[in-house]
Formats: sequence, structure tokens, C-alpha cells
Amino acid sequence: MAYSKNIRLYLVIILVAGWAITLTLRQAFLEKKLYRQTRILMGTFFEVISPDERAGEIVFKEVARLEQLLSKYKEDSEISKLNRSGRITASADTFYIIQRAKENTLKTNGAFDITVAPLMDLWGFSERNFSVPSALKIKENLRLVGADKIILHERNNVIEFKLSGMKIDLGGIAKGYALDRAVEKLKASHIKSCLIDAGGQVYALGKRSGRKWKVSIRSPRNGKNANIIELTDQSAATSGGYEQFFLKDGQSYCHIIDPKTGYPVKSGIVSVTIIEDSGLNSDALSTAIFVLGENGINMLKSKFSKAKFYIIKD
Ligand code: ADP
Ligand code: MG
Repeated sequence: MAYSKNIRLYLVIILVAGWAITLTLRQAFLEKKLYRQTRILMGTFFEVISPDERAGEIVFKEVARLEQLLSKYKEDSEISKLNRSGRITASADTFYIIQRAKENTLKTNGAFDITVAPLMDLWGFSERNFSVPSALKIKENLRLVGADKIILHERNNVIEFKLSGMKIDLGGIAKGYALDRAVEKLKASHIKSCLIDAGGQVYALGKRSGRKWKVSIRSPRNGKNANIIELTDQSAATSGGYEQFFLKDGQSYCHIIDPKTGYPVKSGIVSVTIIEDSGLNSDALSTAIFVLGENGINMLKSKFSKAKFYIIKD
């Protein structure tokens, strides 16, 4: 009796061990070598991780192409031309991103608004020559804010500003859009697995060796990992007031402007991360939640049913 009990025990041990070895070997077999490539683009650090060596160049080429169209810091970009002249005939990309930006202004009750550019300039965020403007100056510039004052002519791709002096800044949406377009290029080259990190905003294409990509959301307070999230065919964007800000008379002013007041946001949120299927939406929403505060989450959940929200508060 005792003898057969022992045999049964051995059999179980052998089975379990065999099963563990099979799993380990299977995982090792599935775990593919990953290539890592980095480049500075759109004023930030891009990193591309993929089992396909071609991925990096494909992503960098597409992001560089879009940066050339969309950056307000490049004099000959379409955005710079529009900001100077108030009217351009735009490329399909520029027209589309502005159309989507306007759509997101409506969906976020005006919290996300690319026409805050004159205020970004006024507070010195564009040239990094920060200063606190007078209330009067802020009021004067607020007149130029409002995405409804960007007129889009679909017939001929003409973009026009209603008021002279208006400007746009795609800093809160361009990286997300670039990720979406880069992923389209990867798919066109039959690349099915890739993680792109655009200075904290990521897009995870497919899976990593059969499992979802794991990404950590860093805590701004101590730099440690606050949360590990799992992504597949999704993007995660983070907005935080700790990234770009200046201090004046003991007050801190961050680079996200409330389009209603013209002042840098003080919503009590340290950082907010949004997961969504599209890079463009997650980028715009993270900026919008930063403006709206925690209460904005419920409003946005009803409009973006697939979005997930993570907030770190003061
Ligand atoms: P990051 O640049 O760190 O990715 P965000 O995605 O939140 O952070 O974008 C912040 C940028 O968005 C600012 O630097 C500015 O260019 C632009 N911006 C600031 N306020 C707004 C706003 N209310 N709506 C849309 N864009 C904004
Ligand atoms: Mg954003």
C-alpha cells in the first residue's frame, strides 16, 4: 500500500517536472531576439523594439516625414506656414490631424484645443523664455483661442484661420498621430510585433513572443515603476505637469494651458495615463484629462468607450 503511494508520488513529481520543462522550453523557443533602435525625433527620444530588424528605420522615416509637416519649430513646415499666413492648402496628413484635433475639442468640451499656441508663446513655453504675463495680455490672447475658428475646406484641403494672429500647436497630439501612421507603415511591411516608445507615449503592435507587451508607467515622484500595464494593438499616453514647467515666486507653471482661462493648468493631477486603440486619441485625451481634472474621466468614458484611465494625484 505504502509502496504504491510512493510510486504515485513519483509519477506526479515526474509529470509536474516534465510539464514545467516543456513550458520553459516552449517559452524559450517562442522568445524571439529583439532589436532595439533609438533616434531623436519630434523633440523627444524614440525607441523601437521589434523582432524584425527593419522596424526601426520604417518608424523613424515615417515620424521624420510627419515632423517635417507638423512641427511648429520647423520654419518650412505646413504648420509654420499656416501660423504665419493664416491660410494654406494642406497635405492629406496635415488636413486629417487638424480635423481630428477639432473633433477632440468638441468631445472634450474644449479642454483639448490646439489653438492655445498664442498662449504657449505668451507664457514663454515655445522659446523657453518663461514669464508670467499680465491678466490683460492673457485676455487679449484668449480671443484667438477656439478650434471652431479653424475653417476646414474639404473640397480642396484648404485650412484657414478666422482671425489674424491665430496659431496652432500640435504638441499635444502629433506624437500620437505619428505612432498611428508609423504602425500603418509597419503593417504594410508585414511586421506584426513592435513596441514604439515616443518619449513616454507608447504604441504596442501585436504581441511579444505570444504575450502582450508589458510597459511600466513611471511614477513622477520617485522615478520608480508605479504600474505595469499590458498592451496589444493599443497606445498609452501620459501627460504630467512635472515634465515641462517653470517656477516663479514659489508658484509652478506647467506646459498645459487651460483654453478657457489662458492659465497653465492646476488640476491637482500629477500625471494621467490613457490607454486607447489609437495613439492620436490617447495623446489628446491625456492632455484633456490633465485640463479637466479627475471629474473629466466620467465624461470622456462615455465618449471613448475603449479608453482606460490611470491617474496619479497630488
Ligand atoms: P507631452 O508633450 O509631454 O507628450 P502632452 O501630450 O500632454 O505632453 O502635450 C502637451 C503639449 O500640448 C504642450 O507642450 C503644448 O504643445 C500642447 N498643449 C498645451 N495645452 C494644450 C491644450 N489645452 N490642448 C491641446 N494642446 C495643448
Ligand atoms: Mg497629449
